[in-house]
Amino acid sequence: GTNTYDKMIEAHELLRQFYHHLLVNTNKGQEALEYLTRRNFTREMIDHFQIGYCLNEWDTSLKFLKSRGFSEELLEKAGLIIKSESNHQYFDRFRGRIIFPIFDMKGNTVAFSGRVMHKGEPKYLNSPETPIFHKGKTLYNFYQARSSIRKKQSLVIFEGFADCIAAYGAGVDNGIGAMGTALTEEHVHMIKRNAERVILCFDSDSAGQSATLKAGELLQKAGCTVQVAMIPEAKDPDEYILTHGSDAFINKVIGTSLTFMAFKMKYYQTGKNLKNEGDRLAYIEQVLGDIATMDNAIERDVYLRQLADEFSLSLDALKQQERQLYYMHK
Ligand code: ATP
Ligand code: MN
Ligand code: MN
Ligand code: MN
Repeated sequence: GTNTYDKMIEAHELLRQFYHHLLVNTNKGQEALEYLTRRNFTREMIDHFQIGYCLNEWDTSLKFLKSRGFSEELLEKAGLIIKSESNHQYFDRFRGRIIFPIFDMKGNTVAFSGRVMHKGEPKYLNSPETPIFHKGKTLYNFYQARSSIRKKQSLVIFEGFADCIAAYGAGVDNGIGAMGTALTEEHVHMIKRNAERVILCFDSDSAGQSATLKAGELLQKAGCTVQVAMIPEAKDPDEYILTHGSDAFINKVIGTSLTFMAFKMKYYQTGKNLKNEGDRLAYIEQVLGDIATMDNAIERDVYLRQLADEFSLSLDALKQQERQLYYMHK
């Protein structure tokens, strides 16, 4: 007999096809298709990412799977249906939402994320942790992007589903999504095993920027070469591509990625006025702290000289202070 694990995957596979069919072939899916079209998701992108739609009805998915022999208990454990507290009836988790299937490293559908089309909370509803889905070990689009990632020995990490999909439409076929969570050690291992260089392309808000700092530190510690692509004049890559187009995204955003150190120097300046002496000293201390962690003496020298030039400081004094920080943290 088939075990629970395989049954759960089978249920997800069937639903992925069902949701995709509802989106692209039915009248009830038309509003969702129009929503995606307004966001510039082409039919090719919708097919590639197997995007779907879960009808805004109580138990269409449940009936669909029950008629194929799946039990309510299994479907609830798989995170596909929820039991009502009030009348104890089961209902579909993703009612009325655009569906983004999530694949594991074997290409099995193991989870979904559903987005509301209009205003509503939560904006994205994800599958819970289940026997087949572990958020901390899964990265969106990693399975599909893997061969390109290995060939290029580089990948681009985005915060969201829409960013990953819009970037794919713009020609970035080595993009993956962090699905809004902080990168875990497991994520970092998956990345490190497949690529040497990582470009972080998160949202431009302060949450995105501090996530960039954290993710970059982890990836760098694991031995990856980290770069950062900043998004000017838009809140995220998806919005940037919608307003400025694919070429601008490739050339002006991805193409002008900063080194991680250059990003950090920019980041440390936010909220500081470098004309103010206290702010300036705090900034120099932060940068020296980073320089002190660099293994490469030439790299250290480059940044020390840069700091000395930028603030008209003596290189000797900077070096002295840098060594002090180095021994403090050793
Ligand atoms: P869109 O462009 O569709 O509005 P987004 O990707 O720009 O979506 P953000 O608010 O920037 O949305 O969130 C980034 C990512 O974080 C989302 O793609 C999703 O993976 C995750 N996320 C956002 N909101 C939630 C939520 N309420 N619950 C779970 N995950 C969420
Ligand atoms: Mn965000
Ligand atoms: Mn966003
Ligand atoms: Mn967005």
